[in-house]
Amino acid sequence: MTLLVDIQAQNWMNNQQVLEILPDIPRGKIRFYPELGNPSDILMLACDRLRPGLAGELPNLQLVQKMGAGVETMVNDPGLHPDVRLARIKAEEVALEMARFCIGYVLNDVQNVTFFRLNQEQCRWQQKSPANVRKVKVGVLGLGQIGGTVARMFRTLGFPVVGWSRTPKQIEGVDCRHGDAELEKVLGLSDYVMCILPSTRETGNLFDLDRFRQMKPGAMLVNVGRGSLISERDLVVALDSGYLDHAVLDVFRNEPLAQDDPLWRHGKVTVTPHVSGWHLEGGLSVVQENYVRLTRGQPLLNQVSRKSGY
Ligand code: NDP
Repeated sequence: MTLLVDIQAQNWMNNQQVLEILPDIPRGKIRFYPELGNPSDILMLACDRLRPGLAGELPNLQLVQKMGAGVETMVNDPGLHPDVRLARIKAEEVALEMARFCIGYVLNDVQNVTFFRLNQEQCRWQQKSPANVRKVKVGVLGLGQIGGTVARMFRTLGFPVVGWSRTPKQIEGVDCRHGDAELEKVLGLSDYVMCILPSTRETGNLFDLDRFRQMKPGAMLVNVGRGSLISERDLVVALDSGYLDHAVLDVFRNEPLAQDDPLWRHGKVTVTPHVSGWHLEGGLSVVQENYVRLTRGQPLLNQVSRKSGY
């Protein structure tokens, strides 16, 4: 069984680094794009992006292993036969760093960090109480590998947490809700909303003007999931109308964000360039593990449902 590796992003991994994470796969069983050799040998493709047309050249392809987290561009790729399975990377370190990202922006607000910095510029001694976090509710949309970690870490810091997912979940100390009807309630309760959902048919444009109207006035939205979850035009209207107070955006519909995009200059928007989850390396062992499992006919790790899209 041959594995084809196709890494396109220049700042990700080079072929030598890929070999280092695959020590147990015989070198003769690994090929690097564009050296396909006999395409019939290739049963597994490990890639960061699905190159247009490539899957169609591999008649016996059984598994595409994404070397990253988001699979929205792959699940519905018309060039990928419906029987081909898809798996992704889940890295514990990424979940932790995304939790730190979310917590950082919430604590900045709760601890009045900007307020005191501006006062210091004026040498102004003015006390202001930090928020009582026990009365500040954090909503976490998406309770998967990352959202679950985010919810637990906010809980550990003393915040009441309400979570939302598609199917029922149980996380100790977290008020877990699920299903479409509950989202409005979760938004109405939450002072801070962390959006950690995948991009699917159901989650596209989840946040439009009607949804922003359901948020607790003065709330902050942090989106680290995907840009497609939010109507960016409606977000600007919602911020200008006061439906929410601030948005921290790490992901966008079009990345990189265009220089003339109004989000850059909006006073109530914080823009970061898709950096909240970075260190995927710890999850890369799944590539070798799934190669072995595919060879042995065992269930794969981190398999994506092509039907639900995540
Ligand atoms: P998981 O697949 O583990 O979890 C996804 C969660 O979203 C699950 O709780 C799932 O519900 C929920 N969900 C999916 N669809 C719906 C829906 N229609 N309604 C309600 N809940 C829904 O993914 P991860 O936690 O690992 O990652 C989440 C996303 O984070 C990724 O898909 C990716 O887009 C993004 N990401 C961003 C990064 C960045 O740097 N900004 C880095 C890494 C990931 P259920 O539990 O019921 O299945």
